[in-house]
Amino acid sequence: MKYSEYFIPTLKESPADAEVISHKLMVRGGMIRKLAAGIYIYLPLGLKFIKNIENIVREEMNRAGAIELLMPSVIPAELWQQTERWYHYGKELLRIKDRHNRDFCYGPTHEEVITDLVSKEIRSYKQLPVNFYQIQTKFRDEIRPRFGLMRGREFIMKDAYSFDVDEEGAELSYKKMYDAYCKIFERCGLDFRVVEADTGAIGGSFSHEFMVLAKTGEDEIVTCNNCGYSANLEKAPVLKKEYSENISNEKELTLEKVYTPDVKSIEDVSKFLNVPKNKIVKTIILTDGENVVAAMVRGDYDINIVKVKNILGWDVVFFATEETVKEVTNAPSGFAGPIGIKCKIIADYSIKGLKNFVVGANEKDYHFKNVNFKDFEEVEFYDIRNAVKGDECPKCSNGTYELFRGIEVGHIFKLGTKYSEKLNATYLDKDGKERLIVMGCYGIGIGRTAAAAIEQNHDDDGMILPEPISPFKVYLLPVNYKDEKIKNITDNIYEKLKEKNIEVLLDDRDERPGKKFKDADLLGFPYRITVGKKAKDGIVELIYRKNKDKKEVKVDEIFEWIK
Ligand code: ATP
Ligand code: MG
Repeated sequence: MKYSEYFIPTLKESPADAEVISHKLMVRGGMIRKLAAGIYIYLPLGLKFIKNIENIVREEMNRAGAIELLMPSVIPAELWQQTERWYHYGKELLRIKDRHNRDFCYGPTHEEVITDLVSKEIRSYKQLPVNFYQIQTKFRDEIRPRFGLMRGREFIMKDAYSFDVDEEGAELSYKKMYDAYCKIFERCGLDFRVVEADTGAIGGSFSHEFMVLAKTGEDEIVTCNNCGYSANLEKAPVLKKEYSENISNEKELTLEKVYTPDVKSIEDVSKFLNVPKNKIVKTIILTDGENVVAAMVRGDYDINIVKVKNILGWDVVFFATEETVKEVTNAPSGFAGPIGIKCKIIADYSIKGLKNFVVGANEKDYHFKNVNFKDFEEVEFYDIRNAVKGDECPKCSNGTYELFRGIEVGHIFKLGTKYSEKLNATYLDKDGKERLIVMGCYGIGIGRTAAAAIEQNHDDDGMILPEPISPFKVYLLPVNYKDEKIKNITDNIYEKLKEKNIEVLLDDRDERPGKKFKDADLLGFPYRITVGKKAKDGIVELIYRKNKDKKEVKVDEIFEWIK
């Protein structure tokens, strides 16, 4: 491809709304342009990049035996009402009406459509197992679309759905997808971890996320430094052990209410009362919109609201509004405590055995000190805190947790019969008995994978695209394309590369060399061949974008290298 015949509108400056590097570089590199919040146009170079990822995904899905189809993005509401997700999915679901005032939604995920299809088309065990996938545009009306393609509202996803006769079969299908996903992200040239994950709004019993490691990742993950067990922080279990620092021969003192004007944060309380953070207990009011619970965690740890949600069997969980806090504590937020609170209380293991601690007094500007468990209603203990670096690994007990940041690029779920029950997806077994189909579902964010590749691979000058997914492999840069000698050598190399089907971008623009070098670095294709002054001696320069290693090579050697 010749630059002058293509369209790569590079920019010097990053757009004002870009917070993360992949967003900045994709806009500056002429890959994407914003149309509206979270909605992007894929320019030719961006599309080529995305298609390379799609091709790897498609090849590995086919290899794993999944079958490609394409579902509509506009879905009738009835299907979503049948699974009740119409009522639970919330505002992320873009709901629309047609001219007859019938309800539809724009698909954020396609369990309903595919299960409905299977319920109508599949009758016998002989047609199972089967796994259908598509690569398609989704819409989720994200509360805070940001970071370019990383968290868009409209985005491209590969979603697959497996259907099996029983649990055992479903596990096999799950394993196949697990392996295919590992292959996909390896082939994309990305450094990733597979972590145990929460199942979220999709539901189901079991799930893994595929995380591209990057300092800028939105997700926190833990990995055991001994056995390698990995989990999303939302999910990472903490051993239910006795906390040695809680156990003491201290005498239980008498409860005392203290005036703590404007003292709210754990930090402030600790300073004001001169007690260590691990002797202060936070009480956090949580709700699913209907029920309210107070969750107690030691001051030096963070509450894990996903664990609370799962323990209570809630579908969703939120921090309670100021109004709800007032209802159950009679006080503004910041002073909640277990004594006299008007809701169920649960506590983290981290406070078990603790004596003479500090809690909020359910009264503005007051705390209780010398609090002991006898001072309030009995509580049940659970693991409801975030894991921290150094926590013992619950799987091997020999290692401890390390913390990393990651970007979730893929997510696989074992669904069980959640959707087949609701949509009546059954089959007849060998004995002619009707049984429910057992499902799994599997997603990869194609655009997010592209963005994650850049988050993981860049430097101050631009992108460093992994070779397997880079839209072009070689940036061919004649310093002055008008110079006869330079032009001849450049064209020669260009033809040879094309003969070998190596994607090359020839920068034939009439621009200053400085501008061309800058753009080459910005676009970050793995190799650059510069044809400059030494061309008259048959010498060109080969540059590796990754480490900027430079080599002067004879033109003949370049032909060898290309081979
Ligand atoms: P997240 O927790 O990041 O919101 P999710 O758990 O809602 O993602 P899934 O329902 O598991 O996402 O969707 C499958 C994949 O689709 C994700 O692993 C991710 O790669 C991609 N994806 C999800 N939401 C977005 C988005 N808003 N923009 C781009 N890609 C997305
Ligand atoms: Mg997910």
